[in-house]
Amino acid sequence: MNSQLNHPLVVGAGLVGSLWSTLLAQRGHEVTLVDRRPDMRAEGFRGGRSINLAMSTRGWRALRMAGLEEEVRKHALPMRGRMMHDRAGNLTSQPYGKSDEAIYSVSRGGLNLLLLNAAEATGKVNLVFDHKCNGFDKRSLEVSFTNEAGDRVKTKAPAVFGADGAYSALRSTMLRTPRFNYEQSYLNYGYKELHIPSNADGSHRIDPEALHIWPRGQFMMIALPNPDGSFTCTLFMPYAGESGFDSLVEVADAQVFFEQEFADSLEHLLEFEEDWTSNPVSPLVTIRCNPWEYKQNILLMGDASHAIVPFYGQGMNSGFEDCSLLADALDAQGEKVDWARLIAGFSESRPKDANAIADLALKNFVEMRDRVADPMFLRQKEVAAIMHKTFGDEFLPVYSQVSFSNTPYHKALSNGEVQEAILSAFAKTRPEGIPSSDELKMLADQYKARR
Ligand SMILES: Cc1cc2nc3c(=O)[nH]c(=O)nc-3n(C[C@H](O)[C@H](O)[C@H](O)COP(=O)(O)OP(=O)(O)OC[C@H]3O[C@@H](n4cnc5c(N)ncnc54)[C@H](O)[C@@H]3O)c2cc1C
Repeated sequence: MNSQLNHPLVVGAGLVGSLWSTLLAQRGHEVTLVDRRPDMRAEGFRGGRSINLAMSTRGWRALRMAGLEEEVRKHALPMRGRMMHDRAGNLTSQPYGKSDEAIYSVSRGGLNLLLLNAAEATGKVNLVFDHKCNGFDKRSLEVSFTNEAGDRVKTKAPAVFGADGAYSALRSTMLRTPRFNYEQSYLNYGYKELHIPSNADGSHRIDPEALHIWPRGQFMMIALPNPDGSFTCTLFMPYAGESGFDSLVEVADAQVFFEQEFADSLEHLLEFEEDWTSNPVSPLVTIRCNPWEYKQNILLMGDASHAIVPFYGQGMNSGFEDCSLLADALDAQGEKVDWARLIAGFSESRPKDANAIADLALKNFVEMRDRVADPMFLRQKEVAAIMHKTFGDEFLPVYSQVSFSNTPYHKALSNGEVQEAILSAFAKTRPEGIPSSDELKMLADQYKARR
């Protein structure tokens, strides 16, 4: 790597860094894209066990911009709603949106691989692997890396984009600069991944067109389908307490717990013992910071500036939206690029949306694990769906605003608060029955007046 680049440097070749490099290259810029890991392609990424992510409208928009939507869609599975499993194994479902709306399960590894290939195919992205970023020099703005041989190399660039994930090294340096606000908060919950293999003929063992949820109040399990016929299940539980990971020391304890709580899943979790023993319990973190930039030269994006808990399925989607919004801002500049203005503008405008989706994701946790089984909540959802059917986009449920529209997250959050207030009041007075047209109009007027 040269000690002085005359083009942008992107640190982190994960989902966000690879996509952003492609968008930059497609706008005529040479890019150096550096990651601490070896090239996953050189090792022949075989997918291993699938870990998946839910892709929705904001993610698709950014992929479309890069000309990659069609390719990714070929490997994506639509999930049209939530399928709830109660303790007795009874199923109920709730559609996510209109009949043609779905969120899509995509393989994390497969997507990263595709994005790396796309970046390389532009012919303008110089990929550098096995280089671990150590942060930057606050005076000279040189970014420092340790290469595979253990040597330190430094480089400077007209613009540095830090897409180096939730534990960002570039952000660590910013932490030691004046007036940098930073908040890292962990849930008392962790998560463990388990695996439902496919049937012998490669088909799915449970309905693949849904995101499955086993809501149990203080804990829950979810399962997302993979194209190879398997499902990735994720158990979210407190670390400690009666229903906590700490209380399930032996695999036999976990087995008994599953028999009580998730009995209908056990017949599909064919490798339960091995999964339980070998898969770690991982933490759930929210990271907020401000500003996202340093001296208008270095900009954090993706999880590096806004890591969120996974309960809205929006971490990657919001990181991809960072890419599309930055590309829009770059396009608006025309021929003459002003990196400093781009960086300062984004750091000014974007954090309010990142904070909003962080809040929405935390709220959705309670909704998924607890409220999806609450009759009042279900009534609110039912009335919201009728309102949406009657008034269309004039009454877009908050889930749809987040997942099926590009409404800025901060607007979706405030609209959601108004909807919640109106619908919970209505559900209390009218807990059942089809609302009359006058009632619907009254709700619509209230929403219009308050949003
Ligand atoms: C359990 C779970 C489920 C999730 N489900 C969803 C979902 O359904 N939908 C969704 O939209 N989001 C989901 N997310 C969030 C999503 O995974 C992240 O938001 C997304 O991966 C962020 O992408 P990124 O490129 O910013 O960071 P990462 O994907 O973490 O990539 C960071 C890259 O930087 C590299 N790097 C790190 N440190 C250095 C360094 N010091 N030097 C050089 N390189 C470095 C890493 O090797 C990596 O390649 C989920 C997250 C979790 C934990």
